[in-house]
Amino acid sequence: MSNWEAVIGLEVHVQLQTASKIFSGASTAYGAEPNSQACAIDLGMPGTLPVMNAGAVEMAIRFGLAIGATVAQRSVFARKNYFYPDLPKGYQISQYELPVVIGGGLDVRQDDGSHKFVQLTRAHLEEDAGKSVHDAFHAETGVDLNRAGTPLLEIVSEPVLSSAAEAVAYLKTLHTLVRWLGVSDGNMQEGSFRCDANVSVRRRGEPLGTRAEIKNVNSFRFVEKAIDYEIERQIRLIEAGGKVVQETRLFDANKGETRSMRGKESAHDYRYFPDPDLPPLVIAAEDIERVRAAMPELPAARRQRYIDNLGLPEYDATLLTADRTVSDYFEALLATLPAQAKLCA
Ligand code: ADP
Ligand code: MG
Repeated sequence: MSNWEAVIGLEVHVQLQTASKIFSGASTAYGAEPNSQACAIDLGMPGTLPVMNAGAVEMAIRFGLAIGATVAQRSVFARKNYFYPDLPKGYQISQYELPVVIGGGLDVRQDDGSHKFVQLTRAHLEEDAGKSVHDAFHAETGVDLNRAGTPLLEIVSEPVLSSAAEAVAYLKTLHTLVRWLGVSDGNMQEGSFRCDANVSVRRRGEPLGTRAEIKNVNSFRFVEKAIDYEIERQIRLIEAGGKVVQETRLFDANKGETRSMRGKESAHDYRYFPDPDLPPLVIAAEDIERVRAAMPELPAARRQRYIDNLGLPEYDATLLTADRTVSDYFEALLATLPAQAKLCA
C-alpha cells in the first residue's frame, strides 16, 4: 500500500459569536426551550425581509485579515435550495459565486515541529438550519428551529492535506485562531465548530481521485479516525478492482467506520440564485482598515515572540499560545514580574 497517497480538503462550519442571528434580532443563545428563538424572519415567513447582522460581517473581515486573505468589498448572498424538515424556508441563505473571504492560508505546525502552509479556498457567510430531534418523542421526530438563522462562517481548504494527522493539526490551528479572534466560542459539543472531511486517494503522481465527503464530524479524535478509516476503505476498494463513488458518508463513532448516507449532490442540484431579498454585501475600505487596526497579535506571531524575545523554549511558547485566555494571563503575570518569563511560564 506504500505507493498510495491520501488527499484531504476540509470544510469547517464555525458558528459566529454574535448575540443575535445573521438576518434577524432573535437570540442565538444555546440550550433554550425548543422553538422559543426562531422568529418570522428565520422561518422566511411571507412579508418578512432579512437584514444583515453587521457583527457577523465584522467577524468575517477579522478572520479574512488574520489568514492573509482578500476581503471582498462586494459579495453576494444566494439561495441554496433543498428540501429538509429542519429547513422551513426550503432554502438556506449562503454565499456561492462571490464569497466574502477569498484565498489566504494557515501555517500549520505539527507535533513533530514540521510546518505546512495550508491554502484556503474561501470563507463565506451563511445561516444555519434548524435541528431534527430524534430522542424527544417515542417513534416521532421533533423539529427545533432555534438554530435556524444562526450565523456561520464556512471555511473551505484546498485539497492539500495528506494525512489524518495533518488534517487534525490544521483543524486545531483553525480552532485556536477563531477563538483567539473572538469570532467563535469553538464549542464542539454544542456544534459551534464542525467539520466535513473530503477524502480521496491516488497512486503517487496520478491526478486527483474521486472523493467521498464525511459529514459533520465534531471532535478532533473522530475526524482522525474517520479519515483514517476512509483512506483504508478507498485503497482496499480500488485494489479489489472497485471504484470510489462521489457520495456523502457518516462517521459512526461506536463502530469506528464511515457509512454511505446519500449520493453527493452537485452544485446544480441546489439551484443557486442570488437572494432577491438581500442587496450585495458591500464592505467599505475604511471598515476593513478599522478592523485591521483593532486586530490582536495573532497566536503564531506571539509564539515566535515568546521564543525570540522572551527566550522561552518552543514547548512553553506553544502551550502558552494554544489559548488566548492562558496567553493573556501569562502576559499579565509577566507584567508584574518582568524578565522572569520562564518562571511565569
Ligand atoms: P462541495 O463539497 O460543496 O461540492 P467543493 O467542490 O468546493 O464543494 O469542495 C469542497 C471540499 O472538497 C474542499 O475543501 C476541497 O478542498 C475538497 N476536495 C475537492 N476535491 C477533492 C478531492 N479529489 N479529494 C479530496 N478533497 C477534495
Ligand atoms: Mg461539501
